[in-house]
Amino acid sequence: MTSILADRIGGSVYERGDDGFDAAAAGFNLAFHPEPDMVARAASVADIVETVRFARAARMRIAVQGAGHGAESPIDAGLLLNTSALDHLHVDPEARIATIGAGVRWKPVYYAAAPYGLAPVTGSSADVGAAGYLLGGGVGPLARSHGFSSDYVTGFTVVTGEGDVVEATADQNPDLFWALRGGKYGLGVVTEMRVRLVELTSVYGGSFFVDTPDIERMLRSWIDWTHGADDRVTTSVQAVTYPPLPGVPAQLRDRRLLSVRFAFPGDPAEGERLLAPLRAAAPVYVDRMGELPATELGTIHNDPPDPIPYYVHGTMLERVDQGLATAFLEVVGADSPFFASEIRHLGAATNRDVPGGSAVGGRENDYVTAFISGQPDLFATAAPAEAARWDTVAAPWISPVNNANLVSQPITRDRVDSCWPDDIRERLTQVRRRYDPDGVTLGWWEP
Ligand SMILES: Cc1cc2nc3c(=O)[nH]c(=O)nc-3n(C[C@H](O)[C@H](O)[C@H](O)COP(=O)(O)OP(=O)(O)OC[C@H]3O[C@@H](n4cnc5c(N)ncnc54)[C@H](O)[C@@H]3O)c2cc1C
Repeated sequence: MTSILADRIGGSVYERGDDGFDAAAAGFNLAFHPEPDMVARAASVADIVETVRFARAARMRIAVQGAGHGAESPIDAGLLLNTSALDHLHVDPEARIATIGAGVRWKPVYYAAAPYGLAPVTGSSADVGAAGYLLGGGVGPLARSHGFSSDYVTGFTVVTGEGDVVEATADQNPDLFWALRGGKYGLGVVTEMRVRLVELTSVYGGSFFVDTPDIERMLRSWIDWTHGADDRVTTSVQAVTYPPLPGVPAQLRDRRLLSVRFAFPGDPAEGERLLAPLRAAAPVYVDRMGELPATELGTIHNDPPDPIPYYVHGTMLERVDQGLATAFLEVVGADSPFFASEIRHLGAATNRDVPGGSAVGGRENDYVTAFISGQPDLFATAAPAEAARWDTVAAPWISPVNNANLVSQPITRDRVDSCWPDDIRERLTQVRRRYDPDGVTLGWWEP
């Protein structure tokens, strides 16, 4: 089978046991070792067309992988289509549009846009792939001032589940365009995106940390503060336990802290004034706030740059109050299986849909949480048990609708279904049937 596809594409095809199979299949989450029947590393759009036609004829499912930051479920059959070689990137400073290949991560987009005083609206990590991120919507350090990142997409080029190359814009296949901005799965293979850039050279922001005894005071103050927060400010808090390892900065090593992340895309003096009430809420232990070039937006959250094994549990919240703070503190204590647990404040621009609408799920929710364990021996036991406890103790605040980028691991049918309210999910099903009638490009793995 592999040789048939290998003869038809310019890129490489691997089957289990081949040299290069593991490298071509590996994602960011080292807890999963993808074992598809074959991996195709596409070198061009034509390769993707051939691969989709081949998989459809062979009745094989395709899981698409670009930068691999969404590799959060086991793959044990089918074809993994690696798009990382589609790495073309062009910035048109007049039109303020970045044309981004399916294999591009956000960091090069920042650096290509910066000379023109422009920036993309991205997530917390600049190493994440633009394609997978935008297909889920995408919320990052500018969420409240700028909204979901998919709101900035002006067009996609897509290979449909039948192997046709189509454009999806407000004027061409508008139903597919609506669906790709948040609908994430089963909508073909995206080969290129056109994304509107914003005028931004720097922000006032970064993070500061408070020490263990001040975690509760800072968390409770932040919760209250978010209720009146300026719409231009995006913040989050993360309870984080740093390991006793030499690579960790001495002040953070072997400590349990709460970090407060802050981004204000405006005058630094005004940013400092807006931050002041948070700074005053508890003694600041480590301070990393200041003026940041836009190219450094991806450093605010301190996400790990290199692949690691991890377990993640994500929920969206309709609201927060002191009861929610109590529930959060119960789950993030000293014995927690989670080394990093965060609450991000959304709302303001994330609540406003684009003209014509988009398929983003969870747009009405104002907060999102993520609980991350990094200890593989806890992934099957303590971490999911504690995640289930969170779902129980935080039930009054958890929204029934999640978001496709923020959903818990492992990705299952029920979890995927929870990423959209009923009306959007039903409309997405229609669009998927139209552009991928045989479900070839499901995108995530279903056993
Ligand atoms: C460290 C880290 C930080 C993160 N921060 C944020 C954040 O701040 N905000 C946020 O919203 N999310 C965040 N995420 C989640 C992330 O946005 C999603 O996991 C996203 O899917 C990753 O995209 P990727 O292209 O890197 O992943 P991949 O694993 O390559 O792709 C993930 C999925 O996207 C789909 N996909 C990817 N490429 C294509 C394509 N060309 N055509 C069709 N489908 C495709 C497939 O369904 C695939 O399974 C973060 C994840 C990590 C690991």
